[in-house]
Amino acid sequence: MRKLSEDREKQLRGWREASSRYKLRHPDRVRMFNRERGKRRLEYFREYSKRWRERNSELLEKNREKNKEYKREWTRQIKLKVLTHYSGNQPKCACCGEDKIEFLSIDHINGCGTKHSKRIGKTGSTFYRWLIQNNFPPEYRVLCINCNFAFGHFGYCPHQFSRVN
Ligand SMILES: [Zn+2]
Ligand SMILES: [Zn+2]
Repeated sequence: MRKLSEDREKQLRGWREASSRYKLRHPDRVRMFNRERGKRRLEYFREYSKRWRERNSELLEKNREKNKEYKREWTRQIKLKVLTHYSGNQPKCACCGEDKIEFLSIDHINGCGTKHSKRIGKTGSTFYRWLIQNNFPPEYRVLCINCNFAFGHFGYCPHQFSRVN
């Protein structure tokens, strides 16, 4: 047993040495060979995964739908959690009272919401997650898309004036 593995080792060492001698002598040929081999592998892999996708297209389609649905629901949950924290059990716009969750978003009270979210590089569900991870920083509020836009664009919301009058 021991003898056999020693022989085998010697044989392997021989091959390794021969191959490194070959590499030294013909670096171009080796490079070419490797490139060709890489190309062939890539082609094979592409072809293989294409066939796999074709064979499993129905399954993939179903999965994609399911994933989309799952992600949508997960985003909704995480958004609801954040909105509820900043606005109470029935989240609504701090300016006009709009309460449809699809219209609501989180606004930075000092008006630098976009700047801030740009700085931390987060929008959408990533931003909601960031808020949760940072224990809901206090300088945010819930606004609807209209009021959010007005504050962001004009620095005020027309609702403020209609309320005063
Ligand atoms: Zn509003
Ligand atoms: Zn408003």
